[in-house]
Amino acid sequence: MPTTAEIIAQGQQVLIGNYARIPVVMTRGEGSYLWDNDGKRYIDFFAGFGGTILGHCHPDLIRAVTEQAQTMWAVGNTFYSTPQLGVGEWLNKSAFPGQAFFCHSGMEANEAAVKLARLRGGQHSPKRWKVISFHRSFHGRSLAMIAATGNPKVKEGFEPMTPGFTQVEPGDVDALLAAIDDETSAILMEPIQGEGGVNFYPPGYVAKVREICDQKQITLIFDEVWTGGGRTGRWYGYQHFTDSSGKIVQPDILTLGKALGGGLPVGVMFARPDLAKLLVPGKHGCTLGANPICMAASKTVYDVIDRDDLMSKATVFGEHAIARLKSERSIATKIAGVRGKGLFMGVELKEPPQKLVEKGLERGIIINLTQTKVIRLAPALTISKDLFDQGLDLLIATIGGL
Ligand code: PLP
Repeated sequence: MPTTAEIIAQGQQVLIGNYARIPVVMTRGEGSYLWDNDGKRYIDFFAGFGGTILGHCHPDLIRAVTEQAQTMWAVGNTFYSTPQLGVGEWLNKSAFPGQAFFCHSGMEANEAAVKLARLRGGQHSPKRWKVISFHRSFHGRSLAMIAATGNPKVKEGFEPMTPGFTQVEPGDVDALLAAIDDETSAILMEPIQGEGGVNFYPPGYVAKVREICDQKQITLIFDEVWTGGGRTGRWYGYQHFTDSSGKIVQPDILTLGKALGGGLPVGVMFARPDLAKLLVPGKHGCTLGANPICMAASKTVYDVIDRDDLMSKATVFGEHAIARLKSERSIATKIAGVRGKGLFMGVELKEPPQKLVEKGLERGIIINLTQTKVIRLAPALTISKDLFDQGLDLLIATIGGL
């Protein structure tokens, strides 16, 4: 068994250094626990950027992927196969009547969504092809998606940007209206911003964006790569937002990733049938998209969240955590705000902390930092109350010790 130092040294040699990796080697997981190569145990409050929404090595997931692995692996999309139908059904049941395109990542799902919006926009004269998104948004790392992402750091070094993408300030209706022209095809929006710091829009804004899209025949794409799959206490983040008549604000296209595979690579572009029909053979594809093993995992994620009522649990746990973090005296002077929905939470610190993630690891808790001072929490929905409270204790101790 190689030592931790040996594994890190080899990693530095054979892996590209595009991730700021922490010098810890994770070797084993179970539920919301992870163990490193030296046997130290951690409570996982970040679930691999939200991917392992059912925790590590969930028995139902193991069963589903093992059964599928013993039945059929990859066939490509020239044939029908059943595992993806179960996920398609779940999407229809949990979101809206629509049709799915499966790929491997959130970025790919967004690429497919923008292509579909352009096909729709191509039916107009002049052709509509431009996309508006928001400052502090994140949509992925492809050339088009860094152009769509509202964070200059993500674009740096890759200029010139792919044309046709612009960002406006979230919440500013006038700025959005000013950015729209007769070539605008789509608005791409995270219903709750993830990488941007678990940010919410002002009340009524999501509905306003829908209204503008309807008025101007613009395709509304909700990027739910972070917020989809039950994490916020509803199947999708958009289901928290209603218009003045109380109707849920629905997108034309929904994009998903992360949690949808329970930790396996699954991306989804899900569109209303009248839009989806424009993606005729030859327009788009993905060799391993809808891989049966990944689809078996994805269907199981939906089944288990539904069966075990994990979204209600996420709501209760999230409210409990926010109340506790807000009332905890020992950290009151360090915290600027706590926000979130379900088990997707952001704790904004007053000052950017030094080595916060490392300090959490020392205490045995895995957390994440975004936008220099927002602690992001996204534990598995399967975490027990006891472990969740232990994790909160460790988080509070970590913040208190800053
Ligand atoms: N969209 C959002 C909202 C994301 O948070 C992310 C990744 O964090 C992406 C898209 C890109 O997803 P992926 O890393 O799976 O390509």
